[in-house]
Amino acid sequence: MAAFLEQFEDARRARGVTLIVVTKRHPAALVRELAEAGHRDFGESRHPESRDKAEELADLGLTWHFVGQLQRNKARQVARYADVLHSIDSTELVEVLEGGDERPQRDALVQINLTDDPGRGGVAPADLDALAERVAASPALRLRGVMAVAPLGEDPGRAFERLARHAERVRTIDPDAQWISAGMSADWREALEHGATHLRIGTAITGNRPADG
Ligand SMILES: *Cc1c(COP(=O)(O)O)cnc(C)c1O
Repeated sequence: MAAFLEQFEDARRARGVTLIVVTKRHPAALVRELAEAGHRDFGESRHPESRDKAEELADLGLTWHFVGQLQRNKARQVARYADVLHSIDSTELVEVLEGGDERPQRDALVQINLTDDPGRGGVAPADLDALAERVAASPALRLRGVMAVAPLGEDPGRAFERLARHAERVRTIDPDAQWISAGMSADWREALEHGATHLRIGTAITGNRPADG
């Protein structure tokens, strides 16, 4: 943990980068400890685990980022407590989110699939522009930028280079969509080199996650 934060601090000083601590599978008590150490942004990937933590820690006024795949039948529930939705990947999902009366104008990132496997999360680059336009026009969402996970088996620097180009296209659709959510414990340096504004760091800060329950 100390090692990551020391190295990351230089990057944070050089330009404003938001550090999201991903706490999935960890107990709320750990999040509270990290909040006491000064962290404000937390990432979770599974509903209802994420809801339970957000409710238990509501007194801390933290910013909650939902970084996992958003299932359509749970999306509106997630939108009740998540401040930022990182995984908008279809127009159907946007429609679902518009159906509720949850807090309006949730911050949203379009997740881009950087692999050739359509089964992975994220919109295919070929469909990115249409989805970004749809989100930008949505009364329920505020388009803030893009999110991606580096594919396994590819140099993450090359993947994040593609992501940077996709992000540029999205900014031509909506100049306010400046965020690039990229970089995990293993590849945050490459993500920063290619313009990441939001890192999603789990194990490098929390240590290993408890086994899947
Ligand atoms: C778990 C997770 C992370 C954090 O991964 P680490 O390798 O533990 O840093 C980041 N992004 C997403 C989408 C995740 O699911």
